[in-house]
Parts: sequence; structure tokens; C-alpha cells
Amino acid sequence: MIIQRVVLNSRPGKNGVPVAENFRLEQSTIADTVQAGQVLVKTLYLSVDPYMRCRMNEDTGSDYLQPWQLSEVADGGGIGVVEQSKHENLAKGDFVTSFTWPWQTVAILDGSVLQKLVPQLVNGRLSYFLGAAGITGLTALLGVREKGHVAVGANQTMVVSGAAGACGSLAGQIGRLEGCSRVVGIAGTDEKCSILAQEMGFDAAINYKKGNVAEQLRELCPGGVDVYFDNVGGDISDTVISQMNQNSHIILCGQISQYNKDVPYPPPLPPDIEKIQKERNITRERFLVLNYMDKHEASVLQLCQWIQEGKLKVRETMVEGLANIGAAFQSMMSGGNIGKQIVSVSK
Ligand code: NAP
Repeated sequence: MIIQRVVLNSRPGKNGVPVAENFRLEQSTIADTVQAGQVLVKTLYLSVDPYMRCRMNEDTGSDYLQPWQLSEVADGGGIGVVEQSKHENLAKGDFVTSFTWPWQTVAILDGSVLQKLVPQLVNGRLSYFLGAAGITGLTALLGVREKGHVAVGANQTMVVSGAAGACGSLAGQIGRLEGCSRVVGIAGTDEKCSILAQEMGFDAAINYKKGNVAEQLRELCPGGVDVYFDNVGGDISDTVISQMNQNSHIILCGQISQYNKDVPYPPPLPPDIEKIQKERNITRERFLVLNYMDKHEASVLQLCQWIQEGKLKVRETMVEGLANIGAAFQSMMSGGNIGKQIVSVSK
């Protein structure tokens, strides 16, 4: 059977900005029938995520992420439908997902790596299982719960950077649902800021590309910052940390502003900011959603319940066609997405 697939065409270099041309669409073939334990799946949705930037390097700098190889098919979170099955728990028509879905239109996969999906849990919006009801939502929810020290009635102010992105837009809403009394976002366009304030229930949002972030933060968080959900690192985070209260908490989710630089993860804070962090006893522990696998199932159900109740507003930026996945990745890394960036492969 002839299929289309996307391979890594070139590496951007550890200090380079990734571009669509780092990926290449090509034709390939797979067997027409499956062996025992396998399924043939048609790909429906693929996820593009910031962590993939590390996989474009020869050395990912992390023991849980493997580098993509040149001229080999890329992979990541994906959803598809089973078209043929020789796996005892999967049947034709089942919707399934995996963290290691190959970037190709049709694939033969080992049934044991697939999880069956229940579309009703997300009102039929299957792609949500890659975002709000998937690893992105889990990152936001478990980040807040495990590292945020949010308590109902504690009158806490939360700040979220990368706030209009996949994790950030959920993290702010979850901070509120879990008890924060004030939630302020930081994002890169006026449109993103108004969506955060008008649709997602943030009290306010700051466009970090306009005006003075420190001044706006002081005005919008007059009592200081108690919880900081950090997606970006760099100057924005230094500014937020400078305004954090004694015994406050950073949720160290990601540091996207540093991903095109050859620096260790997590990058150390500049000495003056580290001094503030230590003096004010601000926690900044590394958070990795994969370290909480035992909490994933119950947490997905919580996320699905909030989605069904309309308590968690979900945004996606949907790009059509496998051929456009490289462009979708480039766009997401430079702020082109609102909410979760998804590539729709075939309907
Ligand atoms: P995302 O926020 O949907 O997409 C990336 C966004 O980051 C862009 O839209 C852009 O929006 C912003 N950005 C890009 N470069 C920036 C820069 N130099 N300075 C400030 N903002 C910049 O991505 P996501 O999937 O939600 O991931 C957010 C963070 O969470 C990433 O750092 C990711 O690595 C991390 N993450 C961590 C875990 C974990 O287990 N710890 C799991 C998943 C994701 P603007 O318009 O606002 O610039």
C-alpha cells in the first residue's frame, strides 16, 4: 500500500531556529495486511509540541527523549482509527492514540502500544485527547496540583507565561478552578490577551511584546505573585520572579524561550534572580508530567468532566494536511498558535 510520511530532512543545529524545511514529505509503502498482535490504522490527528525541538538535535540533552534520525519518519502524539486488527482488544472502527505515532497517513502498529479512546468523554472532539484531555491537560492539572500549592480560600494570585498556548491557557483556568483568586496571563499578541481575558476567565493578560512587563505586572498583581506557572523562562520569568512573594511557588513547566539555545535544562537563573528566589524561599522544582503516570487516568477523567461542564474552555489551532506539519511546528514555536496546535491528517 502506498502511503505518505514525513521524515526529518535536516537538523536546525542546537542554536538554530527550526523551519518547515527541516521536514520532508515523501511517499513510502507498507504491507497491505497485518500480522498477529498488529493493527492497521489511518491517522486522523497529530500533535506538534515544543519538546520536539530537542528531538531535532543529535543529542536531546534528556534521557527520556530519543533524537529523530535524518531521513527517518518523525513521531509524536497521534490519534487514528483502526482499519484492520489482529490484536485481541482492538477492532475495526476503534479510535486509538499513542505518544509515538508515526507521522504518516496510514501505519501498521503493535496493538499493545495503543490506548483505546472514548469520544463521548470529550463531546466527540477526538483531537482534545492530544490537548485538553491528553498530555497537555495533564501537564496543566498535575503541574498546578503537584507544584503549585494552590489552596481554596488562600487568596492567591497566579501568573502564567506562554498563557495563550496549549498548557498555559488550561493552567490559568485550572488555577482558578483549584482556588486562586486572581489569574494573570502573559502572551505575545493583543488577540491572545483578549481571548484569555474574555473567553478563558483570566482577570487580565499582558502582551509581553508591548510596553513594560514589570510595570504592568505590578499594577495587575498589587499583592505580589504567589504561584507562577512558567512555560517560557528567560527575561519574562526573571521579571515575574522579581515580583513573587515570600514562600511562593514556581511551577517549572517549560522554558521555551531557551529551546533554540545550547543550554542545560532547567537553565540556571541569573545570579540576582537566584538571590531573590533563595531569600524569599520560592520553590522552583523541576516538573515532568511523565513522572506522575499513576495519576493520569483519574486526572484525564477530571479534565473531561470540566470540558463537558463547560468549566474548561478549549482552543485549538488546526492545520490541515500532513504536508503542512513542518510549517505547523515552525509556526507554533514562533507564537502562531492559540491553544493546542494540531495537524488534521485525514477525515
Ligand atoms: P505552546 O505554549 O502551545 O506553544 C508555544 C508558545 O510559546 C508559542 O505559541 C509562543 O506564544 C510562546 N513562545 C515561543 N517562544 C517564546 C519566547 N521566546 N518567549 C516567550 N514565549 C514564547 O506550547 P505548550 O505545548 O503549551 O508547551 C508550553 C511549555 O510547556 C513548553 O515549554 C513545553 O516544553 C512545556 N511542557 C512541559 C511538560 C512537562 O511535563 N513539564 C509537558 C508538556 C509541555 P507567544 O505568542 O505567547 O510568544
